[in-house]
Amino acid sequence: MTRSGGLFMKLLLGIGIMFGIMWVVSAFVPRSFSQETLTYFDRAFLDKSTRRANLSYVSNGLQSIVTLLALFMFANRGHKSSTLLGIQLSRQASPSGAFWVGVALALQTAVLLTLVSLPFRMYNGYYLEKTFGLSRLTISGWLVELLKSSLLNFFIYAIAGGLAAFLLARFPGTWPYLLTVLLFFGSIFFAYLYPSVIAPMFDEFAPLEDPVLLQDVQELAANAGMKVDKVLVMEASAKTARANAYFTGLGRAKQVVLYDTLLANHSVEEVRLVLAHELGHWKYGHIMRGISVSAAGTLIVAMLFSLVSGPVPGRLSIEMLREVFLSLVLFAVLTSYVATPVASFLSRRNEIQADVFSLNVTGDPDSFIAAMIGLAKANLGDVQPPRFIRWFAWTHPATVERITLGEQWKSGP
Ligand SMILES: [Zn+2]
Repeated sequence: MTRSGGLFMKLLLGIGIMFGIMWVVSAFVPRSFSQETLTYFDRAFLDKSTRRANLSYVSNGLQSIVTLLALFMFANRGHKSSTLLGIQLSRQASPSGAFWVGVALALQTAVLLTLVSLPFRMYNGYYLEKTFGLSRLTISGWLVELLKSSLLNFFIYAIAGGLAAFLLARFPGTWPYLLTVLLFFGSIFFAYLYPSVIAPMFDEFAPLEDPVLLQDVQELAANAGMKVDKVLVMEASAKTARANAYFTGLGRAKQVVLYDTLLANHSVEEVRLVLAHELGHWKYGHIMRGISVSAAGTLIVAMLFSLVSGPVPGRLSIEMLREVFLSLVLFAVLTSYVATPVASFLSRRNEIQADVFSLNVTGDPDSFIAAMIGLAKANLGDVQPPRFIRWFAWTHPATVERITLGEQWKSGP
């Protein structure tokens, strides 16, 4: 790492910590709700949802500050030890040796980040969910879920880390391009596997059987000139009171998933609107678009890293590789955290496109608005979040903005 590279890294850390502080501060700024929000939601709901949201914003802010600092210290500790171990400096990393160094370092980093974030995740993901009546899991059930997802993540990070270290050692000049290509195809592979291999590790799925809704799916798809063959119902009710739906997979593995809580507690018209929204993601290929965007992000991060760290030496010793690898991990985590608003903006754009699609294909803005209200109530959503939170992290437009979209559609162009 060059001197200016080190400074750049500290600057990124500073911005990241500032964002963390902004999360916390946002929770303490008094809310003022728009007339529209007050028209659609009563005070009791707004008070309760704001209280829950603010507590989670404080936890999220502290979590990012602590995590970024821990990673920064961990990566820099590597620097010091590498200069002390002068003997090892001459030992050149063989490509297969590099792979295993990458696996080990990626695992160490992943375990560190998991442990550091654990108290915040317990507070946010278990305690708050339970206190506000959203979660139906027991603490042991929740821990099992966490363990399963952590192990899966460790496995993925280990492979990605091993391959990244291999590329650094074997192709010091062209690794940014190769890494991008690798992650691009890796993501495609993962998106194919997700519905049939990954998702069933966590939840049970069954084909949608409701004849009315099946008829709806066929009509909606026909209206949009699409062929939709897979709509599944996920047994979410055992774990959560939340209602949701999502679109996943690529190519033949594409599918729409509806929570059983959505079907149980919401009107057929509302479910139809949610379905139409997910078909919008299907129609516009948003999964593939997301993978392409993250590939572009990978390339930018890798090239920026080459720029600030200086060229990777042709003959990397194992200790040098450790240093370069940990700097790269730190750099990737910091830049992706600092660039979160860009990712959120792009995601919101896709969501608006899917919302407009759902309105066009159903021609039913009243049910669209009803669905937005129903989902916000089921999920105790922050319907009009603080400006910073919305800008930084909102992957969907705020509920009140989506309601406005429905009203605008209704009043016509
Ligand atoms: Zn969506």
